[in-house]
This record gives sequence, C-alpha cells and structure tokens, in this order.
Amino acid sequence: MTQEDLETVKMDKDMVDIAYYHDLAQQKQKEHAKFLAKLRQKKPKHLDKVVKETHAEVFAVVDCTKCANCCKDLGPDFTEADIERIAHAFRMNLGKFEDTYLRVDEDGDKVFQCMPCPFLGADNLCSIYPIRPKACREFPHTDRKKIYQINKLTIQNTLYCPAAYLFVEKLRHKLQL
Ligand code: SF4
Ligand code: SF4
Repeated sequence: MTQEDLETVKMDKDMVDIAYYHDLAQQKQKEHAKFLAKLRQKKPKHLDKVVKETHAEVFAVVDCTKCANCCKDLGPDFTEADIERIAHAFRMNLGKFEDTYLRVDEDGDKVFQCMPCPFLGADNLCSIYPIRPKACREFPHTDRKKIYQINKLTIQNTLYCPAAYLFVEKLRHKLQL
C-alpha cells in the first residue's frame, strides 16, 4: 500500500468499504503473520509509543460510525460486570437479560444469541454506547502495550476491521523489520 492509501479510507456509498479491506487482509495474512512474529522476536525500542501513535493516526481517519462491522459480524464476550451494568440500565434482572440476549459459546464465553448486535441502531450507532461492554470499548485492541502478545488476535481482527488492517500496514511501513 502507498503512504496515500494509508492516510485515506476507501469508501463505498458513504460507508467504509468492508469487502475491499477484507480481501486485502486475506491476501496479506501470511505477510502480516511474518511481520508480527518479527515484532515479537525483536521487540523494537519505543514500540509501545509507536503503537500508540499509529493507533491514534488510524482512528483519526477511520470513522467507526460509517463502518460498525464489529457490531455486525463479531460482537463482544460479556463480563459479569457488563451484564450487571447493562441489565441494571434496562431494569431487567440478570437472568432475564441473559435469557433475552445471550448464549454461552463453544469456549464457554457469554456472547450475543445472534448478530448483528441487538443494540446497533438503524442509524449504525450503538444505542448503549456509554454502558457498552468492555470488549466493545477495547476493540480492535490496537491501543495496548506489548502488542506482540496478541498477534493471533490482531491478525484475525484485520479480516473484520479496516482499522486493524490499516494499523498493521502502517506499523509495517514505520518499522520496516
Ligand atoms: S472498530 Fe473496526 S470494525 Fe469496528 S467500526 Fe471501527 S473500523 Fe469498523
Ligand atoms: S454493544 Fe454497541 S459497540 Fe458493542 S457490539 Fe453492540 S452496537 Fe457495537
């Protein structure tokens, strides 16, 4: 990708072009895996600082309200604190909340019964934004220290999240490992 490709976001009818980034991410899975493995091996100096900067640069150009692919395709794992907070806001008891919205997946995590997320509005915005699950707040986990500790997750997220894809590409350009 050219520097210009990394500074702009490809749109399709006023929405982030998910299919475009998904295809690119798929094509680059091996390259990305190699790069992230090197990152783990070499642990470049100031990596956390570069990661923080790169995360900020990517989210300065990616408008999540014109994407919401994570809310349509992935969805969060719920912590008990998430369930208590959201059920309380809905004035539902915990059992009723879980019966209405959640199921336990094959890894034993509590997740939505179906996707897209039931709290994603027709306006493509999260209707429970201030009290959304912790995993939604942290996704796509590109703003964290020792990013090489979650290489597998980062590569997987590039397939769903244009920002995660751009983040890895930008990091490659900057670090040239
Ligand atoms: S975090 Fe990624 S997948 Fe979610 S809305 Fe933003 S760009 Fe899209
Ligand atoms: S709770 Fe909000 S941020 Fe989380 S998946 Fe649903 S719509 Fe997206």
